[in-house]
Amino acid sequence: MKIYNPKNQTELVEIICNKCGKRIPVTKGVPQEDTLHVEKNWGYFSQNDGIKHTFDICEECYEEWVADFAEPILAEENLELL
Ligand SMILES: [Zn+2]
Repeated sequence: MKIYNPKNQTELVEIICNKCGKRIPVTKGVPQEDTLHVEKNWGYFSQNDGIKHTFDICEECYEEWVADFAEPILAEENLELL
């Protein structure tokens, strides 16, 4: 969950992991840890049709989550960063 400055709604000040509640500070607009940000607009054939879900997950919770997957995630080196 992204927390913005109440006096300036465009200034990101903190990210809170929706799963564990860990607070990740943001310094000069840069989060001090990377997180998973999810935005999902549910559509047809969903019980949430027309609803948008948004959440943020810290890396520790992400690692626990994907470790439970029946099928492993696809992990590739991002060559754009090299
Ligand atoms: Zn977490």
